[in-house]
Amino acid sequence: MGGTFDPIHIGHLVAAEEARAVFGLDKVIFVPNYQPPHKPNVPVTDPEHRYAMVLLSIYTNPYFEVSRIEIERGGPSYAIDTVKEFRRLYPDAEIYFITGADAIAEILSWKQGMEILQLCKFIAVTRPGYDIEKVKEKLRPVNNNSIEFLKITEINISSTEIRRRVREGKPIKYLVLDTVENYIYKHNLYAGGR
Ligand code: ATP
Ligand code: MG
Repeated sequence: MGGTFDPIHIGHLVAAEEARAVFGLDKVIFVPNYQPPHKPNVPVTDPEHRYAMVLLSIYTNPYFEVSRIEIERGGPSYAIDTVKEFRRLYPDAEIYFITGADAIAEILSWKQGMEILQLCKFIAVTRPGYDIEKVKEKLRPVNNNSIEFLKITEINISSTEIRRRVREGKPIKYLVLDTVENYIYKHNLYAGGR
């Protein structure tokens, strides 16, 4: 499951856990990006902070891991590079890329989007505000069974909303894990104008 995770919130965690349970996945690897290619002009938080918050969110789930692959690679984090690297690292595994409905809707604008669809399967989970039927329709011409759509318990939260709430002094408790809430305040993230 790739993302900017700026910060990771319960929407990410619920999506990952439901996908894991339904598809019987052996593990879910969270892959925080270094530089999101689709958000070129948006400043993102230091990857080490984003990585730390993912780690603080996942360590209690024995199925969850976090990878530094995109952080170590640096530069724009293209999914195609990461999927190829995971295929090298886990040659015998069946790899599923977990995304939300908003992200999968944009897959054709990803670098070598069509090629990624040949290299791994996708689990596209429902997300409030995104009509899964419309997304399915949009992707029908390219979806040769590589995308599985999964209806999950929908959590209407985004990292953008969390950042806004911190900036406005509103509570984020229970929207992110306590460990992440504490980390955000300790490092004074999101307070200054983001
Ligand atoms: P931002 O508002 O900064 O874009 P975000 O909440 O969308 O943050 P991302 O890091 O962009 O989080 O998303 C990583 C992945 O998690 C994407 O595939 C996205 O679709 C998915 N995702 C994020 N939030 C949810 C949610 N509430 N429900 C389901 N999927 C989600
Ligand atoms: Mg997003």
